[in-house]
Amino acid sequence: MKIFCVGRNYADHIKELGNAVPEDPVIFMKPKSALLQGHTPFYYPEFCNELHYEVELVLQISKNGKYIPEKHASKYYNQISVGIDFTARDIQTELKKKGLPWEKAKAWDNSAVIGKWLNITPEILENSIQFSLQKNKQTVQNGNSKDMIFSFNYLISHISQYFSLNIGDMVFTGTPAGVGECVVGDVLEGFFEKEKMFEVEIK
Ligand code: ZN
Repeated sequence: MKIFCVGRNYADHIKELGNAVPEDPVIFMKPKSALLQGHTPFYYPEFCNELHYEVELVLQISKNGKYIPEKHASKYYNQISVGIDFTARDIQTELKKKGLPWEKAKAWDNSAVIGKWLNITPEILENSIQFSLQKNKQTVQNGNSKDMIFSFNYLISHISQYFSLNIGDMVFTGTPAGVGECVVGDVLEGFFEKEKMFEVEIK
């Protein structure tokens, strides 16, 4: 199982971090060990001094494929969730300055939180999806899939030009504006429309 992540897919988030709008999707990966398993507590990583949440829509791949044309891409994922791409922002800022890879900031153990899965219906794909994150019961991020720079189908097609997609792989599709810091004791809750998808407490 592989976890793909998309960076810089919402214009308002690109602005808040002072990044340039990409011509091509920014893709990075997290290993399987990054996935926080159900009922495992989330511990603030020792090496980090500025832990950020990034709430994202997550797709699950349902069919093996490579070089998938965009017009067929919707046949390759059948479940959707909301997750957090936890980021050691202090480390990422240093790595970006030096032009180094992001794994130490993004791919560490338990850095990927994924909520429950919903089956994707034609309705879900036709309409825009509103999703959000609450920190200690206050909404801190509010996104809508219609604001994505690169659509689900474009992303699946693009990723598959470089990597085989396999059943069970997951794709974090990028975070909207509002990323911010969390500390020990904070409780994060992710929502798909009005439905609560996960709850994580930082220990
Ligand atoms: Zn992200």
